Formats: sequence, C-alpha cells, structure tokens
Amino acid sequence: MKKIFFALAAFLAFEHAAIAQTQQPGVCGTSLEDQLLMRELMPVDHTHTTASERSNAVQYVPIHFHLVADSDGNGRHKISRALDQMCDLNAAYEGNDMRFFLRPHNTYGLFDKSINNDNVYSNQSNTFTMNNRRLTNALNVYVTNIADSGNPNPIGIVLAYYSPTFDWVVSRKDQVNGSGNGTIPHEVGHFFSLPHTFFGWESAPFQPGSAGWPTAPAVSPGGVPTERMNGTNCSTAADGICDTPPDYNFGLLVANCQYNGGAKDPLGVTVDPMENNYMGYFSTCNYEFTPGQLAQVSTNLNSPARNYLDNTFTPAAETVVTPDDLLQLPASGDTVDAYNNVAFQWQAVAGATWYLFEIDINSSYTSPFSQEILTNDPTVTLTNLQANRTYFWRVRPFNEYYTCNSAKQRTFRTPATTSANDIAEISKWYVSPNPLGAGAARINVNASQGFDANLTVFDAVGRQVYRQNNLTFSAGETTVELPLDNAPNGMYFVVLDSAAGSSTRKLTVLR
Ligand SMILES: [Zn+2]
Repeated sequence: MKKIFFALAAFLAFEHAAIAQTQQPGVCGTSLEDQLLMRELMPVDHTHTTASERSNAVQYVPIHFHLVADSDGNGRHKISRALDQMCDLNAAYEGNDMRFFLRPHNTYGLFDKSINNDNVYSNQSNTFTMNNRRLTNALNVYVTNIADSGNPNPIGIVLAYYSPTFDWVVSRKDQVNGSGNGTIPHEVGHFFSLPHTFFGWESAPFQPGSAGWPTAPAVSPGGVPTERMNGTNCSTAADGICDTPPDYNFGLLVANCQYNGGAKDPLGVTVDPMENNYMGYFSTCNYEFTPGQLAQVSTNLNSPARNYLDNTFTPAAETVVTPDDLLQLPASGDTVDAYNNVAFQWQAVAGATWYLFEIDINSSYTSPFSQEILTNDPTVTLTNLQANRTYFWRVRPFNEYYTCNSAKQRTFRTPATTSANDIAEISKWYVSPNPLGAGAARINVNASQGFDANLTVFDAVGRQVYRQNNLTFSAGETTVELPLDNAPNGMYFVVLDSAAGSSTRKLTVLR
C-alpha cells in the first residue's frame, strides 16, 4: 500500500509543502483521536481476551459494500474486485474462526450500487446519503475514489479510514482488491477496536532529528506511554496488546517491510518492530495479526456494542469448485444468430448461490460498454449488444461467504442481423402472463398479413419442452395457448419460426 502512499505524499508535499514538513499524511485516516474515541465508545475488557475463553465455533460477520460512483454515475468499482477483497479479508481473519459474508440489502441488493454522488465519491461530506444506504445489521464499507477522513492531523486524504463516529469503513477503490495490500483488513481491525501497533506516534514517527534520538521518550508525541522492548509496560503502553512489539511508526520511514533504523526504547534497548503486522504502516509485507490482536477482535465482536452483527447465517457451501467447462452458450468463438437477443448459459455449480456475469468488448472488462450482472440463475439474455463486434464474457460462481473463485471466459461475435420482427408479417407479439404463475400461458400475435409458423418453447439450457407445427396466423390478432402446466420454475424461450425467419420472446415461470 505504501507505493501509492508515497505518490500521494509527493503530491501533497508539492501542494502543501509547509504542512508536509511537519505532518505526514496517514496511510490510514483513523487518527489518534479516533482511536481514543474508539476506546471510550467500546472499552476493551482485557479480562475476556484469553484464548481459552474464546468460542471455537465459527462466527459469521455480515459485511456490505457500497460501490460508489460520481454524480454522473462513472467510476464505480467493479463487483469482481470486491469479491477478490472478500476472499483476502477472510484469509486475514481465518485464525480467529471468523468468516465474513456478504449480506444483501432488501432494496439495494447484494452490493449497493445506488450512490452516484460527488460528495461521497470524492469526499464523504454527504453523510446523509451514506447513512440512508447503510445496512443496519452489517459492517458497512464505502468504496470511493478518494477517502477523506476529515481529520486535520494527520492529513485527512488517505488510503482508507474507519470512522468511530459513524462506525463505518471508507476506502479508496484502488485498495479494494485481492492483492494482499492489507488496507481493508487493517481498517476492519480498527472497526473491531484494534489501535495501531505504533499508537501515539501517528503524526510523528520516531527518527533521526526527533527529540532524544536515538532513545525514545517515555511518552509518545500523542500522549500515549511508549512501549518498551522488555514488555514490562506492554498492557498500558501503545496498543495495550502484549504480543505486538514496540513500533514508533517506523513503517512510514521505509519503503519496504524491513526496519533497521536503530531507534532505542526509553530504557535504551534497540527496537525490533513486527514489520508485517496488519496494524502497522509497513508496506509490501506478508501481513499477519498476532493472537493477542485476534483475541481483542473476538472480544469486541462478542461485546454488546456489536450485537447488531449477530446472525444465523450458514453458507451454502464452504467452498465452490468451478468446472473447467462451466460455460455452455454461446459456443467459444461462435457468431450468434442475432446481435440484439443473445442468450448466455452456463452450468449450475454446486454450492454457488450467485453468478457474476460480465461482458465487454475488451478482455479487461473496463470499456464504457462493460456490463456486470448478478444473477441467481445460470442464464442471462442480453438485448443491448452492438452489431458486428467481438465480445468477451465471463462468469464467476460464488456464494455469500466463498468468493475466491476466478471466472471462466469465452468470446463470441455478433452479426449484423437483428432478431426482432424477422417475421415480416408480425407487427407485435408477446407472451402473457409473464412471469407465468398459476394457469396457462398464451401468445398474442398481431399480424399485418396472414402467415404460417412453428411454435417452440425451449428451457434455459436449450431443451425443447413444447412444439406445435404449422400454425396459421391470420391478419389481425391471434391467440394461441401454451400448455406449460408442468414446466418447472425458470426461464424459457418461446420461438416462432416461419419460412422467412424467426422471432423469440423470453418467458419466466414462477409459481
Ligand atoms: Zn489505521
């Protein structure tokens, strides 16, 4: 995460040279004051943080991502990146028997894509909208273009932050992915009461030139006691967690995961920090939490303040295995029959309750034409594609807990031809009722001249479930009944084909 931070720091140094000399912009915007507020709001009860008192049962924690766009609806982070992040977050807290799961909002769905607002996307001054979309029984993460904690010190524009006032996490979208950059696990650590390992040194890392160098003062610049190497004050100094060694914010001073700067603790002992701790500021590490940190997270999760996260969730499966031959239609490299009515099918996957379907004209799925569709069914029909193009499409099966699968991808081409009104005599036709509940379905055809056609119904995987040959349609309106009383719930395609061409309508059976 630090590479981006240094680029940002350089920018800020240019813009605010006077400030940058005395203040370091935080990687995370959860300030010393925020962490003190966290302690006040949710005091840590150290009497309940021993491992033996922790339950061995897996605890599921509901989380809800808000993928925020600007006021024009642009810039929204991809669902696929959020799924990658979920997998990464679950790995980070695996040692605690904690599992995060995506909890859908009744109105806004599995991911909230309803916020198009510059004052959420570029800063978070519009807390009214953020509160309005908040899912009350989940950990809320707002994914934006800029994370602005509003804190003057350290500088508020950061990679991400947890706000104890609003009890939510905000992150820049470039931090939300499966890269192991540590940002989201760090902020979720704050959410569950963890301070920085260098608590007290947020605004002034201890370095050559600091007062007393190389021996650190007994009290940090933030007023928190400085932790000693010998552990004698570990429960009252810095983060108050005894298995995280002293760190005086050395991560801000180096560009990698190694500190050999020679700082000494107040007793004169050379400090050896835990560089790869999630709650520090070191970059490019293979991050970990200590058992003491995980115990404190567990205590916080089981405290009354977190009752709103309680749930009875059980995942559909602990893991989801994607078959290599997941995708079915269109065939790989195929040119489909019509560009404006393309049906996509794939195998239903055991344990998957959701499929992320993506399509675009490039394989990075980043063009303005890219589409992402979440569906519970193994089929999607698109009517908005362009003629004469090569398309890339991919499908990723997952469930609310297990999101670690990659997608399977294929290409196909659209032709110049359209499927609408390919039967020239038809001016209008439809299937009703649609969706079909109890009773029979019928088709209603309005023709300018009489014609003959076959009527066929296919299910979602292309099996013929009904056919009637050589129906005669006269000029004007004709109604034909479709005997689908025994058809199971699902998507169907109703096809009329004459000597001149064919035309398709979708029908959903939902009883
Ligand atoms: Zn932080």
